[in-house]
Amino acid sequence: MDAEIIAIGSELLLGVTVDTNSAYLAGQLAAAGVNVYRKTVVGDNVERIATAVREALERSDLVICTGGLGPTLDDVTREAVASVFNRPLEFHQELLDQIAARFAAMNRPMSESNRRQAYVPAGARVIPNPRGTAPAFLIEDERGTVIVLPGVPGEMRYLFETVVIPYLREERGVTTVILVRTLHAVGLGESVIGERIADLMQQANPTVGISAKRARYELRIGARAESQAEAEAMIAQTEAIIRERLGPYLLGTEELPVVVARLLRERQLTLALYEGILQGPVLRALLAAPDIEQYLRGVEIHPLDRPADALAASDLAAAGAASVADRWQSHLGLGVQPASGHDEQGFTPVAFVLLAPGGERRLTRPFDLRSGDGREFIGTAALDLLRRYLAGESE
Ligand code: AMP
Ligand code: MG
Repeated sequence: MDAEIIAIGSELLLGVTVDTNSAYLAGQLAAAGVNVYRKTVVGDNVERIATAVREALERSDLVICTGGLGPTLDDVTREAVASVFNRPLEFHQELLDQIAARFAAMNRPMSESNRRQAYVPAGARVIPNPRGTAPAFLIEDERGTVIVLPGVPGEMRYLFETVVIPYLREERGVTTVILVRTLHAVGLGESVIGERIADLMQQANPTVGISAKRARYELRIGARAESQAEAEAMIAQTEAIIRERLGPYLLGTEELPVVVARLLRERQLTLALYEGILQGPVLRALLAAPDIEQYLRGVEIHPLDRPADALAASDLAAAGAASVADRWQSHLGLGVQPASGHDEQGFTPVAFVLLAPGGERRLTRPFDLRSGDGREFIGTAALDLLRRYLAGESE
């Protein structure tokens, strides 16, 4: 079954309100195994809403609308959907009674405009809304089914979970489960990862996708199956293959800063940082690690020395690491120092030195220091150097 989502509300088009309802519905429908074919956002206008619904019905069997069910004159979803199905709006006394009871319970007077909310297209199935005043409804003909839900996110979610999901399972035979697991990888380029798992990325089920964020990679495995257990087994099998192909570059389900903090805790080690870059990209990266204040004893940011070349930068990084580890009495000292200048592409050698009880690790690589994005790569490289040492992996 193919589905579409239509979010209705001029505030969504103006950028005043973020359309979180569509994202929620897309995630829920995917989890239920329903293909979402398209999402549309349309303003509070009868003609344009009707056109959007009509066009969606030409492509898809199921259309879920959210928004425009309020009591005011600009809420016109009821009228628009009624016109698509060529049906009049019908007054439902029981809906008005429910709305009146809700106002009575809140000890507030019901306004005349709330009467509008007791109208539903003829032949539609009414979906009472115990969380609010706007009743929802389901209407269908040979073109397909349209379900209209309120725009208020809490009400929309409630009705989706308690009414729409059971409808999909019981009346539309939806049994599929989709599970997604995200794994994190670091230290290899996106193209190298892509080559190592190219065959997995081409398979239809489970699917495997990669996205990159400043040299950190997210690999998403999505499995579709008839039961939760079956989907989990499929994911576990694909994860095992990815683990084998990426080896130490695969972190697992934890992100890099979380892994670093966990390893520091497990190995009961403390750290001090010397950073020769004013913006402190390594400190920034470290600050994303949970409870880092328990392990990070001190930080010195000293941007004034820029040694002439990579070798001198590495020596200064080592001297800085030794100095901060001594001053704050930490087990580990991490020094990060760029050389001066940059090459034609804008890259500057940056030296990393980790002084540790078992010896030292050095690394020098070129980075673009001019932008925040470029500097974030430095944070990733430093955290990964730390992670590999803590995990007992080779350099
Ligand atoms: P409505 O049903 O159009 O009267 O919407 C009621 C309220 O729900 C609006 O004022 C918005 O704050 C919120 N809302 C409506 N549509 C959405 C949406 N697609 N995503 C998030 N919030 C929404
Ligand atoms: Mg609205």
